[in-house]
Amino acid sequence: MFSKGPARPPRSLVALIIAVTVVPLVTLLWLGWRLLDQDRVLERQQIQQRVERAADLVVAALQRTIAVSEQRLAAGSEQWPDGAVVVTFHDGGVEASPRERVAYFPLASPAREAPTATFARGEDLEFRQRDLTAAINVFRELARSPDPAIQAGGLLRLGRSLHNAGHIEEALAVYARLSQIDDVSVGGVPAGLSATYARGKLLEEQQHVPQLRALGVDLDRELRSGRWTLTAPVYWLYSADAAKWSGNVATAPRQAEVFADAVGALWDRWNSTRPAARASSGRESLETNGQTLAVLWQASNGSFRALLATPTFVESQWLAAIAPVVKEQKILFGLRDVQGRRVFGTLETGDAHNATRNAVESALPWDVVTASLDPPDEDRDFALRRRLLVAGLALLVSMALMASYLIVRAVSRELAVARLQSDFVAAVSHEFRTPLTALRQFTDMLREQPALDDDRRRVAYDAQSRATDRLTRLVESLLDFGRMEAGARRYRFEPCDCTELVRRVVDDFRGEANAAGHEIEFRGDSSAQIEIDDEALSRAVRNLLDNAVKYSPEPSPVEVGLERRNGQVFISVHDHGIGIPAHERADIFAKFHRGEQARIRGIKGTGIGLAMVDEIVRGHHGRVDVDSEPGKGSTFTIVLPTTP
Ligand code: ADP
Repeated sequence: MFSKGPARPPRSLVALIIAVTVVPLVTLLWLGWRLLDQDRVLERQQIQQRVERAADLVVAALQRTIAVSEQRLAAGSEQWPDGAVVVTFHDGGVEASPRERVAYFPLASPAREAPTATFARGEDLEFRQRDLTAAINVFRELARSPDPAIQAGGLLRLGRSLHNAGHIEEALAVYARLSQIDDVSVGGVPAGLSATYARGKLLEEQQHVPQLRALGVDLDRELRSGRWTLTAPVYWLYSADAAKWSGNVATAPRQAEVFADAVGALWDRWNSTRPAARASSGRESLETNGQTLAVLWQASNGSFRALLATPTFVESQWLAAIAPVVKEQKILFGLRDVQGRRVFGTLETGDAHNATRNAVESALPWDVVTASLDPPDEDRDFALRRRLLVAGLALLVSMALMASYLIVRAVSRELAVARLQSDFVAAVSHEFRTPLTALRQFTDMLREQPALDDDRRRVAYDAQSRATDRLTRLVESLLDFGRMEAGARRYRFEPCDCTELVRRVVDDFRGEANAAGHEIEFRGDSSAQIEIDDEALSRAVRNLLDNAVKYSPEPSPVEVGLERRNGQVFISVHDHGIGIPAHERADIFAKFHRGEQARIRGIKGTGIGLAMVDEIVRGHHGRVDVDSEPGKGSTFTIVLPTTP
């Protein structure tokens, strides 16, 4: 008869709710996702466009600044900052400007040298006749010659003879003199270089370490100073000794050596190209000794002129022109040579957004790469917009979820109430049926058996009377509940002795309780005068007594008490019945609510008794407390203020 468990919305309703909330929600999410996606695509496109535009601007700026250098190169300018050198190839050979920036050359035209015959007599004395003293005299004479070539040849040989004769200090002095002479050669080597080298050898032999070290340092500096024009083999030969003597063994090639190698490479290429096939100008990058040089060259009338620039020069002279573009466009940029080696910047082509301008297409010495700098303003705009969109979507989704939750909850409640009401109707009908059946049975008995004796007749009348009382109370209770529901219940407060009232209700109820096998005991303070609605409070106490008996299946005493404490009146009804589980205690005062045990055990009831008690007591500004232990019993206490 009573439905079991909490009310759930039917499946069709759940499906409907899903349809009206989940479907639009999913559509909304999908649309939001698409919007975000398109936004992202747009963002990528915009960044890419910016990077591409920046690449074009960088190329244009580089073209302009390089063109200026080319004009200066064509005009024959000699003034080039550090990190650059100009080389010229022509019929006569190779020239570099500034010359000291190139360590050695592909070819070197030897300086004037005295014929060997000039020294034949002296060498004959020195080597064949082994007359060192005579040889020294001959060479000393030649060293006084006004012709620097003869003077140089004489000095070198004088130094050698003095050395062999054991006049070390003198020999060193002679070499020192010789090392001052320029523009002539001795034995195919510049006189100064020969002298310095011979002095070094002598110092090495004599183990004059500090002097040797100083000489090594000087020689090293002079080799690179451009004092002598040397070819690569001669340079490396003397350079190795200079390093050994000075103790400074170079780990990396020096700039002048890098330039020299580059000049050699350009020279080889120039000479291996047929004059007819030679282009008139070019820009390129050239890798030598691990350094990439930028080369601008021009050729005309069989001569070749090139500007060789180190990455440092490129950065300080040319890339300065890019700075405004980089700043304005908010980009990173890098330069790579044709082999893909990095010349400037740290860009990888794997970077998210980049643009490359090929060296061949742009006619620059390098590939130019630009990439977006993270995060530029427009990225931030996009990010902000995306955040707003996501926040808006999240808000909409949560609102939709909230709305569907509220709908489900409201529907469930409505359904629960509807079910409770139908249960209530069924319960009320059942309640009515019992006294009605009794009435009918006894009425039939009286009518059909006129010869009943007095005792049995009285039993029948008593039973009829009890059934009528029960029906009356039921009807009154329902009417009262109806009024309560309609909000039309008015209380008429009058001063009244509460003890008397409770005692009267207990006395009235005793007969019924005894019939069910229960004893009722009342213990109360002598008098408790307060303002109450007699009829309403009687009904409340009566309902509690009803329940105490109803929910005590075994015959057991019911104790009713009344006491005054702290300005309050406590009316308690204590039974030894089935008790109320803790989780049900909060619900039992709700209208139509029936406990699980009440339903399982088939205990009759309508679920409005305690709702009425609660309503009445509240109307008296009081409260109802429950204390219960399942299986042991319950105590309901009405607490009323003595002053309303
Ligand atoms: P009804 O008794 O008609 O079911 P009530 O509103 O009077 O409705 O009580 C609500 C529920 O509270 C009952 O169904 C029962 O589960 C529980 N209850 C009330 N009084 C007692 C009691 N004295 N002992 C055990 N359970 C009680």
